[in-house]
Amino acid sequence: MTGGFAQRHIGTDAAAQGIMLHALGFDSVEALVQAAVPASIRSRPRATTDIPPAATEAEALAELRALASQNRTARPMIGLGYYDTLTPSVIARNIFENPSWYTAYTPYQPEISQGRLEALINFQTMVTDLTGLATANASMLDESTAVVEGMLVARRASKSTSNVFAVDADALPQTRALLAHRAAAVGIELLELDLAHGATVPESVFGAFVQYPGASGNVWDPSGVIDAVHVAGGLVVVAADLLGLTLLRSPGSLGADVAVGTTQRFGVPLGFGGPHAGYMAVRQGLERQLPGRLVGVSQDAAGHPAYRLALQTREQHIRREKATSNICTSQVLLAVMASMYAVYHGPEGLQAIATEVAQKAEALAARLRSYGLSLTSDSFFDTVRVTTPGPSGRVIERARSLGYQLLWVDDATVGVSVDETTTDADLAAVAWAFGLPEDEFAGAGEQGERTVPFADAAPLAAVPPVLRRRDEFLTHPVFNTHRSETAMMRYLKQLADRDYALDRGMIPLGSCTMKLNAATEMAAVSWPEFSRVHPFAPEADVHGYLALIEQLEVWLAEVTGYDAVSLQPNAGSQGELAGLMAIRGYHRANGDLDRTVCLIPSSAHGTNAASAVLAGMRVVVVACDEAGNVDLGDLRAKISAHASELAALMITYPSTHGVYEHDVLEITQAVHDAGGQVYIDGANLNALLGYARFGDLGGDVSHLNLHKTFAIPHGGGGPGVGPVAAKAHLAAFLPSHPFSQRKDHAGGVFDGGPISAAPHGSASILPISWAYVRMMGADGLRDATAAAVLSANYIAARLREHFPVLYTGEGGLVAHECILDLRPLREATGVSVDDVAKRLIDYGFHAPTMSFPVAGTLMVEPTESEDLGEIERFIEAMIAIKAEAQAVAAGEWPAADNPLVNAPHTAEAVVAGEWTHPYSRETAVYPVHSLVRTKYWPPVRRIDQAYGDRNLVCACPPIEAFA
Ligand SMILES: *Cc1c(COP(=O)(O)O)cnc(C)c1O
Repeated sequence: MTGGFAQRHIGTDAAAQGIMLHALGFDSVEALVQAAVPASIRSRPRATTDIPPAATEAEALAELRALASQNRTARPMIGLGYYDTLTPSVIARNIFENPSWYTAYTPYQPEISQGRLEALINFQTMVTDLTGLATANASMLDESTAVVEGMLVARRASKSTSNVFAVDADALPQTRALLAHRAAAVGIELLELDLAHGATVPESVFGAFVQYPGASGNVWDPSGVIDAVHVAGGLVVVAADLLGLTLLRSPGSLGADVAVGTTQRFGVPLGFGGPHAGYMAVRQGLERQLPGRLVGVSQDAAGHPAYRLALQTREQHIRREKATSNICTSQVLLAVMASMYAVYHGPEGLQAIATEVAQKAEALAARLRSYGLSLTSDSFFDTVRVTTPGPSGRVIERARSLGYQLLWVDDATVGVSVDETTTDADLAAVAWAFGLPEDEFAGAGEQGERTVPFADAAPLAAVPPVLRRRDEFLTHPVFNTHRSETAMMRYLKQLADRDYALDRGMIPLGSCTMKLNAATEMAAVSWPEFSRVHPFAPEADVHGYLALIEQLEVWLAEVTGYDAVSLQPNAGSQGELAGLMAIRGYHRANGDLDRTVCLIPSSAHGTNAASAVLAGMRVVVVACDEAGNVDLGDLRAKISAHASELAALMITYPSTHGVYEHDVLEITQAVHDAGGQVYIDGANLNALLGYARFGDLGGDVSHLNLHKTFAIPHGGGGPGVGPVAAKAHLAAFLPSHPFSQRKDHAGGVFDGGPISAAPHGSASILPISWAYVRMMGADGLRDATAAAVLSANYIAARLREHFPVLYTGEGGLVAHECILDLRPLREATGVSVDDVAKRLIDYGFHAPTMSFPVAGTLMVEPTESEDLGEIERFIEAMIAIKAEAQAVAAGEWPAADNPLVNAPHTAEAVVAGEWTHPYSRETAVYPVHSLVRTKYWPPVRRIDQAYGDRNLVCACPPIEAFA
């Protein structure tokens, strides 16, 4: 057992592991793992490794400080969808840095997620109000991918048979690049048009995309374009700046069908590109076309309003290759922050911030014009494009010498974007960079009187009056109540208290790896050298970031047995897409245009099938045998049936059944023999790290989930990072980016087209995984895997006599998770997997993964971070619940009135009115005595899922509803 940080990270110490091993009949942890992991896949011990020996927490922080100091904290005025912002401290401390918010899981168990669900419905209300549309989802991964999703909504909803999508020439460059890459994969043709300057949209399009305001800052009236597209039967997607929308007409009022964008500038740090919450809103009638998660209002068993995720049948967990999108993990924590920025500032506050921003832009423009400089447009909100007197590079360099980053547009044009942090002194400095006289600027700051303060400027001076916003927004009381910091702090605490996160107890979700997110790992994310960095900052200003990214790439390549790693994908699903697109790119480059079939086992995670479709592939399902393994016979049959069209096999290892399949080498060989590539879904890497490597199993490409295996917190459903790792022959097809500061990666030059809006995706949370690897070292990572496998097997062994363990491998052992089959219990007692999951809440637990990958089962993954005490508490709860179910079967309690079907029990349920149930109130809420001191009280009773879908409400309900 390693010492230092690893001992803090791993919950079971040597003594506890001794007890667990004894129960399993093994002498050592190593012996257990050797027995569980097939010898054929185990890596041979390696003489050298790229992973340095473990650092202490203090050493890792010192190294991170050194890396941070290599980033230059300039004043970014580059714009292009990313703006410096002031995160209210009350939000930074109580959400961003608060484990009650950042360690929560996706709110699939709504009864224990009411706090974050309320925050997300606030987010949806904020987005629908500002965009003037009917329904918004609870966050997209970023603006550019949201535009792609908008294009796909238009394609599904349009009656036009055209495959042409019109794109605004003044769209953000990264969005244009992403659209080109993603459209090509699914056979959509893009038609770029200068829409702002009168280009007419041909009738033969299924939709159009408008950037509002344009990337150049230009504010123009798109309603004519929108009308023309509608006449042709197409839909219009508008990307709008949310802060601008507090002053400008909403896309909905201009006729848009879909509005998308980012909420970054609502108090979410730049972070070198992310994570930030994108948004999407649609007009009435398109709700069922929405990608991603949607929060709705329903009611609980007491008839009280309660939140839950709505219309989940759109999602890939159910619809698989027919899903509206592959998005799974999104950007919940950041959506919560952005929504709270609106809650804290309110409509007047937001409007005041936006007005000041518009005044700053106008003040700068006026000063530049007064010296004879001209702007490409006089109608703008926060961004101006300036024709430079000499080469634009000179202006950029002068600005840089004072610490400002401006946008190079072309040899004679520079872009400047202002934001809520911009000061008069900043404006004066920028004016100087354009060659305005020194004295004009020298006085700014102390003797600002020589410059005109921006407060005197008229906002939106040249914007057509028809585009001024006149309607009200954010009128709901939640946006008009929490103005004092005391009120805000208490609102955030009230919401956090409704939720169950890792700071309360274990979240044993199979496939999700809810391990410790250590405080030291989190520290650097808040440092300004990492948080206040623009994603398109010049290379010279981000050496610290680039060094950290390269180290992490090398470490991940080492532990997976691949040659090249891209950290650009913002979630596992995006890593899948990037990996499958790399495979397609590779086949195309070899002239294999017909290789488009992707074989996917029936047990696969829903994102796999959805991603394959988005990569332009055709999904062919491969059966699993009764042991839960890939059915080799069926696989061989499918391979030969599709030999010449075979693009890839996509498998998960260990399988989604939590078992180390024996035949994996044979499987990957068969695919290679037929000319296919092998994609290994790496979400279960926590069962292999340090013991086996995907590259050695025959994988050509994989994604990892840094928010599972590598300690990035789940954030209540995001953010995530889904690196894509590949062998050398695929490196050239890994994600590139038009603004990437570095084209050469350790594994080669990546040239595959972007998969995220930012070159390094959610860069600002990479220090978390960096710190995890740095502090664990190679030995610690291996010990963590062993401890995770030990805990899963211990739970399986202890619960086996009460619930059958559905699938096992060698010697009856499982990998890092186990599936408990609750179907026999249901047959014998009528108690469902739902009842058990909800009853676990009464016992103070988050339920394990329900009905994935097999309906009627629970998949338990304790991870290495839980200690034996918590594991025992879970085992006891499961055994006690089994006994309760048997009491129902024995007729002690009626099937319709017992502690299981009535679970979870709220405080109100046990104190209000007369108690009429056939079991005691103690049994209801304190089934185990220790709960008297540690009770988590769910705020609502069981939520009626169907009611919420039948009566779809996806915005804040009136407060009277809760009276
Ligand atoms: C979590 C998971 C994914 C998807 O990852 P996201 O980050 O949620 O997009 C894919 N496959 C498997 C097996 C997973 O467990």
